Amino acid sequence: MSCNHEEYMRRCYELAVSAGKKGHDTFGAVLVSDGKILEEAENTADFAAGIFGHAEFNLVHKCANKYSDRIMEKSTLYTSCAPCERCLGAIASLGVHHVVCGVSYKEFCRLLPFDYQPLDREGLLEQLGIRMTLEESVLEEEGMHVFEWWGGEYRPLEELIAEMDEVKKRSSGNLQLQKAGTSDALTLNCISKQSFDTDMEVGAPAAGGPPGYMSLKFHMKMARSGHLYKLVNNDGLIVGGAILFPDGDTLNIGRIFVSPEHFHKGYGTYMMHEIEAMYPEVNAFTLDTPVWNTRTNAFYAKLGYTEVRRSSDLVWYTKER
Ligand SMILES: [Zn+2]
Repeated sequence: MSCNHEEYMRRCYELAVSAGKKGHDTFGAVLVSDGKILEEAENTADFAAGIFGHAEFNLVHKCANKYSDRIMEKSTLYTSCAPCERCLGAIASLGVHHVVCGVSYKEFCRLLPFDYQPLDREGLLEQLGIRMTLEESVLEEEGMHVFEWWGGEYRPLEELIAEMDEVKKRSSGNLQLQKAGTSDALTLNCISKQSFDTDMEVGAPAAGGPPGYMSLKFHMKMARSGHLYKLVNNDGLIVGGAILFPDGDTLNIGRIFVSPEHFHKGYGTYMMHEIEAMYPEVNAFTLDTPVWNTRTNAFYAKLGYTEVRRSSDLVWYTKER
């Protein structure tokens, strides 16, 4: 039985990828009766035009007025991903009782900007007098890769998931990168000093930091000229900062720093992504870091920065969009 499940699910995935390659969302569905595929459909939704066009909905339309209730109630609807509530309603109206999904609701939420909320759909439908069994996670891993074709442009699954993780983190209101005023300069000066002092642990030959890293006067000047940014957590506390120099379509990231008590929480990565998002017009991000700093050199390389030049003291990096 499960072997057949896989065969029909693979067909759903083919239909989903086909929809994606046409620029649609990557979903596909088939209706199977007596071991035979009766109908197939793929997603044709057009979000901008307000056209619904989900694969399961399209499949229901193909079956409507064509097959008897008797055939439908013995059929199984296979779909590449757990159906939305509107499609569940459509499937129920067709009189199909058995639905098999590739990607589960829970797994699909990894690609959505909100977290998974468990919901007893079968129980809710039952309360409405609708009998339906929902089977999930058939060839699920394969099914997740179908989303790499979403909207026609191939993008690796890991990249899609990482992007959503970032969106979720941002929308949770955990952290915000904001322009700092002169009243923030004292706090940022302290955090800067504490942060750069820890460089001794990652190869700094002596205590120190970039020019002005422990100068209140410098941070005041940066705030006044609009170059100073603060990283604020959801308690309103400043936990880090950045100094940025935009210049046309290039942005020089002068420095970023995080309070040592908040190291290893991904705050640096968050700030770097946020900086890129804050400057959509910028084509190239540039920065430099000391040769000896094993922490920052590895960090920037991981974020996609490429070394363009190095002297005996510094390494220069660029990231192009
Ligand atoms: Zn739907």
